[in-house]
Amino acid sequence: MQYGAFSTDSLMYITNRPDLVFERGEGAWLIDHQGKRYLDFIQGWAVNCLGHCPPEITEALVGQAGRLINPSPAFYNGPMVELAGLLTANSCFDRVFFANTGAEANEGAIKLARKWGRLHKGGAHEIITFEHSFHGRTLATMSASGKAGWDTLYAPQVSGFPKAAYNDIAAVEALIGPKTVAVMLEPVQGEGGVIPAGIEFLKALRELTRQRGILLIVDEVQTGVGRTGKLFAHEHADIEPDIMTLGKGIGGGVPLAALLAREDICCFEPGDQGGTYNGNPLMTAVGVAIMKRMLAPGFLAEIEARGQYLAKCLRELSAKHGLKGERGSGLLRALILDDERAPQIVQRALTMQPVGLLLNAPRPTLLRFMPALNVSETEIDQMIAMLDELLAKQD
Ligand SMILES: *Cc1c(COP(=O)(O)O)cnc(C)c1O
Repeated sequence: MQYGAFSTDSLMYITNRPDLVFERGEGAWLIDHQGKRYLDFIQGWAVNCLGHCPPEITEALVGQAGRLINPSPAFYNGPMVELAGLLTANSCFDRVFFANTGAEANEGAIKLARKWGRLHKGGAHEIITFEHSFHGRTLATMSASGKAGWDTLYAPQVSGFPKAAYNDIAAVEALIGPKTVAVMLEPVQGEGGVIPAGIEFLKALRELTRQRGILLIVDEVQTGVGRTGKLFAHEHADIEPDIMTLGKGIGGGVPLAALLAREDICCFEPGDQGGTYNGNPLMTAVGVAIMKRMLAPGFLAEIEARGQYLAKCLRELSAKHGLKGERGSGLLRALILDDERAPQIVQRALTMQPVGLLLNAPRPTLLRFMPALNVSETEIDQMIAMLDELLAKQD
C-alpha cells in the first residue's frame, strides 16, 4: 500500500500484513493511520506486558537516553548491573547474560550447555527438545525447534537436537544417551498452540535430568516475567532448572532478552560469548522498570486473577457457541474452535467497525490471547463481546 510518499513494497515480503499502518498505542489500544482504534489482544506477541506506551517505559527510555545510551559492552553500566541483580535475587539463578532477542538468548543457552558438556561430560553436546516447540529463528534455534518443515527449509540443519514428544517422560528417557548434555523446553508451548507442560511432567523431568547428570533448560521467552501469573512459569512446578532464557516480556516492547544460569554451570571464559548490544543501558533500564512493576505487591496475584477471569469468560463463550473449551496459563490462553475458521475470525475481527480487535491464530482451530498483564476486566469483557458477535455470525 501507499503511505504518504512511500510504499510498503520497500519492505521485504516476509508475512501477510494488513493494509494499515499503526501510528499510536495507548494501553490496550492501537491506533492506525486513519484513526481507527483496535483492542489489542496480541500486544506485540505477548511482549508488551504493561500495554502500549506505559509511562514507566517511556520515562525509563527518555531518562536513560539523556544520561547514557551505549558505553560499549566491554564496560559495566548501572541499569545492566541493577537488572541482573533484580533477576538473580528473584530466581534460582546466579548469573545473567543480556541479549537482544529470545533466539539470541537461546543460542547462548545452547552454547553454554555445549561448553559445559565439553568440560564436564566428555564432549556430550546433544540437547533433547520437543515436537512442536519454538525456540527462535537463528539456524541453531530453528534446528532446536520442532516446527514442521523447519528441518528442510534452510538445510542443512545444525545437528544435535533429537525431538521427544511433549509431556511424555518415557519419550525423553528413551532419547538420553552418552552424547546428551541437556533437555530444553518451554513450560507452555506458545507458538505450538498454548499447550502447558504438566506439573508432574516438569517435576519428573527435573528428577530425570538430575539423576542422569544433564542440564534442564527452560525457554521462558514467552512464559517468563509474569505471563502465567508467577514471575517465571517453572515456579508452578516448584522446580529449579539449571538454565533459563527470557525475552519478550522482559523488555515490555523493546529488544531485550536474557540468559540466566546457576553458578556451577557458568563456564564461559572471556571471548566465548558476547554481542555489541549486550546489557546496553537503554534497554536494561526498561527491564528494571518492568521488574519493579512485576515485584510490586499484588501485581502477580492480579495477573493470576485476571487470567482466571479470562479463562471463565472463554469457557462461557465456548459453551454458548458449542466450541471445544479453552486452555492456557495465566494470561496466555487459547480458545479451541470446532473447525478451522480461526484465520477468518482473526481477519474479520480486524475489520470490525467502529473499532477493531487484534487476535492471533497459532493454528487454524485455535485463537490465542496474550493481552497486556495489566489488562482490565472491562477490556476483557469488551473483547469477549466482540468475539461473541464474530462467532454468532458464523454459527
Ligand atoms: C518468541 C519466542 C522465541 C524467539 O524470540 P525472538 O525474540 O523472536 O527471537 C523463542 N522462544 C519462545 C518460547 C518464544 O515464544
